[in-house]
Amino acid sequence: MRKSILTLLFLAILATPTPARAQTDTPPGPVYIVQADDTLWGIAARFNVTVDELLAANNIANPNLLSIGDQLIIPGMEDLAGALVRETVPFGETLRSISRKYRVEETTLRRLNRIISPTELFAGADIILLQQEDEPAWPARANITEGGTLLELAVLNGSDPWTLKTINSLDGTYAALPGDILYLPSGSASAVPIGMPSAFLATEVSNLPIVQGTTAQVRVSVAQTGTELGGLLVDQPLNFFEDEDGSWVALQGVHALTEPGLYPLRLQAILPDGASQSFEQMVLVTSGYYTEDALLEVDENTIDPAVMQPEIEFLLSLVAPASPQKYWDGIFIGPSVYSDCFNSYFGNRRTYVSENRQTSYSSFHTGIDFCGGSGLPIFAPADGVVVFAGALEVRGNATVIDHGWGVYSGFWHQTEIRVQEGERVEAGQEIGVVGSTGRVTGAHLHWELWVNGVQVNPLKWLAAAYPKGP
Ligand SMILES: [Zn+2]
Repeated sequence: MRKSILTLLFLAILATPTPARAQTDTPPGPVYIVQADDTLWGIAARFNVTVDELLAANNIANPNLLSIGDQLIIPGMEDLAGALVRETVPFGETLRSISRKYRVEETTLRRLNRIISPTELFAGADIILLQQEDEPAWPARANITEGGTLLELAVLNGSDPWTLKTINSLDGTYAALPGDILYLPSGSASAVPIGMPSAFLATEVSNLPIVQGTTAQVRVSVAQTGTELGGLLVDQPLNFFEDEDGSWVALQGVHALTEPGLYPLRLQAILPDGASQSFEQMVLVTSGYYTEDALLEVDENTIDPAVMQPEIEFLLSLVAPASPQKYWDGIFIGPSVYSDCFNSYFGNRRTYVSENRQTSYSSFHTGIDFCGGSGLPIFAPADGVVVFAGALEVRGNATVIDHGWGVYSGFWHQTEIRVQEGERVEAGQEIGVVGSTGRVTGAHLHWELWVNGVQVNPLKWLAAAYPKGP
């Protein structure tokens, strides 16, 4: 919200005419509309031209005057016309489906994005589209089911096969194949919206590209009740649970140390008749830009692999089951009295050393440390069931709460634990007292959040409700 207000302010301040550029009735080539995070250098690199060429084509004397909304002529593309806009590729889209939706030739899309092979298109990618003002994207689309025909699809949607052939640039009405996604001249987007096997009626992956150390969300609507869903993201199997609206949701943490790059997202459906269908596409994982903490001096014993490893394995086994019951509802609440004051954030790269500097251990900060020391109360951030309450060597007095659907909270270093294993807790309930037990440099509350076996940035769960709505 704050960002959008700032952007508006920024736009208001800069609401001046676009900078001087070659004023002709028909611009020589397509125009690129400058967006918030653009730089001249980035735009030039994107279109494979030099900054000087870009400046010359637009008669720009001072490159520092670039503002949001400016229209830049991109040299070397004089044969194209329209506006070049950036879009993030949603999961399930192909070069062909995007080509049809925006009425841009596949060859043009490949050229604009320097794509050599259609398989290079991945979910979360920034793609450049060429849009013509008088040709908006088609409003609806559908796919031809197994055994279905173009004629049936046309009749169902109040159209005819020849219109669909023309809209979708098919060689003939015979050229539409089962599984093909076709655009419709009218209708609502509730028609089967994706280019996936017929078991998947709709699929949405939130927050693409996925930032390392955050929670990915996959929401699927299935065509047939009784369909079993599964899948994989990076290297974690997905667990799907039914949401209130009947769609299925998988929440999955992406590890904070995952190298930024492309990883598979695979969805599998086993139909009630036992047939199975699957779809896989690469998705982009980007950096969380986590900072490097100063060396942390701790008791040698707590960074001894013989001590650390069994404790990590114990925790992993504790948070492995994904309970089908979802105990929490909406946004989590801060577990500390200092709800917006932190000594250390999630994801910080950390190196622990022993006092004699003989032993070291490198990792990342798996949770957030709240301000405030000994004696302060700790509150449950959401409803759940206590699955562990006891002493650990590295984490000290620890409590782990199962919130359901594979989501768990951990609270370390307590001086006092006020709940018992098996106890049902409610959001806001006092569950313990802040202390300095275990591997610590001072008394504080460390809270961490696990989502299907992976620790994620808990602050995201204090800022928004998971799962995100359909
Ligand atoms: Zn911590």
